[in-house]
Amino acid sequence: MAKSDGPNLCGLKSYEYAATVPDLSGPGSERLSLRFWGVRGSTPVSGPEFAEFGGSTPCMEVRCGERLFILDAGSGLHACGVHNRADLPQEIDLLFSHLHLDHTAGLPFFKPVVFDASRTINTYCGNLDGECAKATLDRLFSPPLFPVNLDVIPVRFAHHGFIAGEPLVFGDGMRVDTILLNHPQGSTGYRFDHGGRRLCVISDIEHSDPWPDQELAEFVRDADLMVYDGMFTEGEYPCCRGWGHSTWQKGVELAQAAGVKALAIIHLHPAHTDPMLRQIESEMQAVMPTAFIARERQTIDVGGQRSARPMLLNAQA
Ligand SMILES: [Zn+2]
Ligand SMILES: [Zn+2]
Repeated sequence: MAKSDGPNLCGLKSYEYAATVPDLSGPGSERLSLRFWGVRGSTPVSGPEFAEFGGSTPCMEVRCGERLFILDAGSGLHACGVHNRADLPQEIDLLFSHLHLDHTAGLPFFKPVVFDASRTINTYCGNLDGECAKATLDRLFSPPLFPVNLDVIPVRFAHHGFIAGEPLVFGDGMRVDTILLNHPQGSTGYRFDHGGRRLCVISDIEHSDPWPDQELAEFVRDADLMVYDGMFTEGEYPCCRGWGHSTWQKGVELAQAAGVKALAIIHLHPAHTDPMLRQIESEMQAVMPTAFIARERQTIDVGGQRSARPMLLNAQA
């Protein structure tokens, strides 16, 4: 394992990967961890100017002890599957924030899971008035948009619909709370409580006026880490009002109003290069030292005690 310490994220521990994934399971069954497999919003990007923060669209791996959840199926899902190939359960719970393309397009490329007929992918979708994702995904993944329908892929899908705001309670007793977010066609925010730690993922969202929204502030209150849609800066936002996304400044305002200990910005704008994001991050940390911009493949031990230093994407496996 080649891991190294990174920035002090106020009790959060992050790792850099050079060869293998560190062991976040084992005796740390109380551990709550998060790994970013895709942090770019709207469309994937590639090129040397995106090497540090990454170009894949949203996908996150959340582990409550050894218990796995995957959030969103953006293009980052492919790498998530490849890197976890020896460590994936027979039943995989995939929680969608919503079904826009940048959060779904990676689904058929979730190898090796999709080629395994003995496995099940449970999808959960909360922004369609209780309808599950099946009809939408069948429409998306069908000729001529995609060469085959999902039902010819060996893995079994079980699609579950719920109404954002309802808690999700799983067969093993695990509970995940949810909230409806302001986004075109709606989006679902998630809250994980495990081992005395709290992780909230709030994306995609456009902030309201006034802000912070009180219901949302209560939802994320005292989180050890909040992941937030900071696609724009306040300077850019007036041109993009109504597009369904927020700013890092609004994320900081929400975090500070709700006693959130650390903030990770995701859904990065496709035009924001590494130097721009580093500049944005330094401006943000001048206001909230425990805030940071998420890097693809970065792992956070939520509530961990050790400090760490920034990831470099080109140093990974
Ligand atoms: Zn999105
Ligand atoms: Zn969206």
